[in-house]
Amino acid sequence: MKIAIIGGGLAGLTAAAYLSENRELEGTVFERSPQLGGRAFTYQKAGFTLNYGAHAIYGIDRHTIHQMEHDLGLVFQSKQVDKRKVVYAKNGHLTPAPLDFMNIIKTDVLSAMEKVRFVAEIAAIVGNVHHIKNYATLGDYLDHSHASEDVKEIWEHLVCSNFFITPADARKVSGEVIAEYYHNLFLSSKPVNYILGSWATITDQLKDKIEANAHWEIALKEPVEQIVQQDNGKFLLTSKNREATEYDQIIIATPVQQAVKLLDNTPWADALIPYRDSTSTEVMVYDIGFKSIVARPFHYISDMNNKMFISDVSATDHTVVPPGGQLLQGIAYLNDDFKDEDERKAYLENKTAKMEALFDEYYPEWRESVEVKRVSKKAMVSSVKNIHTNRLLPNQLDHVPFYFCGDGSVGKGELAERAFSSARKVAQQVLSHILKNPEGASTL
Ligand SMILES: Cc1cc2nc3c(=O)[nH]c(=O)nc-3n(C[C@H](O)[C@H](O)[C@H](O)COP(=O)(O)OP(=O)(O)OC[C@H]3O[C@@H](n4cnc5c(N)ncnc54)[C@H](O)[C@@H]3O)c2cc1C
Repeated sequence: MKIAIIGGGLAGLTAAAYLSENRELEGTVFERSPQLGGRAFTYQKAGFTLNYGAHAIYGIDRHTIHQMEHDLGLVFQSKQVDKRKVVYAKNGHLTPAPLDFMNIIKTDVLSAMEKVRFVAEIAAIVGNVHHIKNYATLGDYLDHSHASEDVKEIWEHLVCSNFFITPADARKVSGEVIAEYYHNLFLSSKPVNYILGSWATITDQLKDKIEANAHWEIALKEPVEQIVQQDNGKFLLTSKNREATEYDQIIIATPVQQAVKLLDNTPWADALIPYRDSTSTEVMVYDIGFKSIVARPFHYISDMNNKMFISDVSATDHTVVPPGGQLLQGIAYLNDDFKDEDERKAYLENKTAKMEALFDEYYPEWRESVEVKRVSKKAMVSSVKNIHTNRLLPNQLDHVPFYFCGDGSVGKGELAERAFSSARKVAQQVLSHILKNPEGASTL
């Protein structure tokens, strides 16, 4: 049986790595860009290793990557961001981020009574008895909650930082999503970890795994342009530089927006209508690398007033810098409701200025020391923002004979974890489908 996987990001590579373990299958991973990794792509610049996107793995001991480590024999090291060096800044004042019991005691964003209340809320989430799961959104819950404004602000801010969204959007995340997400995270003993050596450590191993099976191929610079179902139920897939090729099954592992585009004007287009207008999560990213350490007042600072943060990536992962160097990544959460392009441009310029002001405040003289710099004013963190007005794309749709995975599809966790978990699930579904229907083709 022959399988085509469209997209060579974390999801496509994960699905292919699982499927390539089955000796009955052959397949192709189609990737439109010249490199693998998608939004988790890593590149080298002047001795620095820069992640285009993701750094953090939230709750690694309960994360899908932990299962993949066992299932696929992945080998990697991870390091926890030092919780004592994670701070919140509010009105110019720094205080420990209330990430664990010790930090909650020390922080002054909450009073003693508020700390008791917040700890009780965490316990209720861990015990699966928190009322938030019964509310349509975080906003609805907060409106009904008797907690103080500071406790409410902490809730909003936590959701901003884990979902990479603004407070207005944080209030739109469903109560059920929040209950499930924080149940997992609060039970983790490793809330924020980095994979040492960047995401390439994972994507390289997934690639090697796929290529170890001679019946699998990775096709770079090969965008898929068309899929047609034939009378025999199989699919003819056309990509940029190849003759149309027949496949039995297709997995679409692209952002939802690209899946919608690919299936436009096909018999399956209507099934995607409910998913095509979902909004994505976008942030501004500001990476700067220095030859030597400019300052190291903390390892992560979250600016509660301006909704942006700076990670000192190299404080946790020294492998991403030349010896003695420093790599900072600033990220700002962005609004997406502008009346016109001018308003959007002015907003982004203002965000950039605020980010630079944050660097000025805690890393004085950083401007003179910059060795590498990359600013992206609109990086897509998640193809579907997980707010109640958006819908994640199911892994299978009625009357559509393909599987879907990626960070905009249904799966456990947020961001990269949803890309991994949805792909793992899809690969398992394909394998069980094949076991039941050894003749294979598209009997979905
Ligand atoms: C700035 C930033 C910070 C982030 N931080 C974190 C973080 O700290 N923690 C975390 O967990 N996640 C984080 N993420 C999110 C994480 O990077 C993504 O969730 C994840 O990489 C998505 O993987 P994916 O495979 O679903 O999609 P993608 O990475 O988008 O992969 C899809 C691939 O499909 C290819 N493609 C599209 N159309 C076609 C076609 N027609 N034919 C062939 N190929 C096609 C694309 O080129 C792409 O390579 C961050 C992302 C960004 C941008």
